[in-house]
This record gives sequence, C-alpha cells and structure tokens, in this order.
Amino acid sequence: MYQKNENGYLVVLSENALISLVLSSLEAYAVEKRGARGKNKKELETYGSIYGQHTTLADGRTLFRLEMAQTDTTARQTTCSVQYSEEAISLKRAALGAFWPHLDYLGDFHSHPYGNLTEARKCQGFYVSEGDRANLDRHWKSFWKNLRYRLGLVVTVAPMQRARESMSWWDGKGLNCLQFTIGNFRLWISAFCVFEENSKGCYTEDQDEGVELSAPALTGLVWEHAEFGKYKNGAFELAAA
Ligand SMILES: [Zn+2]
Repeated sequence: MYQKNENGYLVVLSENALISLVLSSLEAYAVEKRGARGKNKKELETYGSIYGQHTTLADGRTLFRLEMAQTDTTARQTTCSVQYSEEAISLKRAALGAFWPHLDYLGDFHSHPYGNLTEARKCQGFYVSEGDRANLDRHWKSFWKNLRYRLGLVVTVAPMQRARESMSWWDGKGLNCLQFTIGNFRLWISAFCVFEENSKGCYTEDQDEGVELSAPALTGLVWEHAEFGKYKNGAFELAAA
C-alpha cells in the first residue's frame, strides 16, 4: 500500500473538487475572518479533506480520482499555517465510510497565501513546505498511516496587478503543478503522493516527474492517458496492445 509506485501516479481532479478547492482558498485569502488569531485576519491558509477513488491503471500507474474536496470549518487558520483537527478528519472520514463508501478518504489539501506573484515565485511557494513534509512524518505512525492518507494537495493564491492571459497550464518541470488565473488571482494546485520509506511517511518530490495532475475541467482533454486507436477505412481500429 505504501510502497512508492515507480510506474508513477495520475491524479484526476473532478470539476466539483476543483471548484471547492478554488472557493475555499479564495475565501480564506480575501474575506476577513472574525475571531482569527493574530492581527492579520485575511490572507489565511485553509484546510480540508479530499475524497474519491484509488485504482491501478493498465500501465501500472496509481490513479487517484478526486471527487470531492471539503473544507474543515474547525481548522485554526493563520497567515502562515493552519492547524487541523484530528477529530474532524476522523469524524468526516467515518461518516463517508458508513454512508457514502464510494468516497474514500484520500488525503488533504491546504492553501498557501502570498502577497503577490513575485513573493510566491521567489520561494517556490506552490509546493509543500519543509514544515508540511516534517508534519507528515512526525504524525505518520500515530495518525496519518492509520487513516490511509495517500495524497496531499497544495493550493497557492497570489493576487496580480492585472489579469494576464497567455501561459502554460503547467508550472515547473513536472506535471504535478497546474497554474491558472481567476480574475487577477493567480492560483496553482500541486499534487504530492505519499509513500513510506525507512518507516517514514514521505511526499513525492516538488517537481516529481512521476506525478501527473489532470484537471480536464480546466485544461480540456490535452492528451491520451493510454493509446486509443483511430478510425480508418470505415472502421475503428484499436491501438496495438
Ligand atoms: Zn503548506
């Protein structure tokens, strides 16, 4: 279960999950939160769980199909961290397992808010932080492993002076980080798969070439995930196996 899949990973984001990730991150960024700790009550991080299915593809890659992203309302939010509640995660996971078992708990998401584009780019803020990696390992055996935590997403938000048009959907060398704009907000979503090494819980690398994040609602159908075939001389021919 927790051996690293050397064939790689494909993470497919549903439109529903994509919208939830975007709205939760934008709200935490732009809307003042009453009762928030610290003097800054905006530009906060948000946190939630992600649910869906886990299967293996014909090419041996692990597929995570993300159906739903759900914000934890009890998480303690600050501008540079977010403290989740283990109780909330366990409760919601149990409720889904009992009543909606097709929505398997896959992992979590949290956001990284930045003052502007330069700041986010300077520290490559759209990847998991050292703190995020340390947290996974610190609570690996006591919490995450028992939950079957398999996937972490980071949603990064930075406002721009004005909306910009042309850019690639992917940022970085790997395919695990998607970038897009909503008005004059730049957003990135990056995916990190989880494996165990030397009894430690680990995320895949920041620009891991083995991890692909696919969000067809955003990018359209950009390429084939397996060979399809073609229609020729009045008949459809499957690709050679
Ligand atoms: Zn983080």
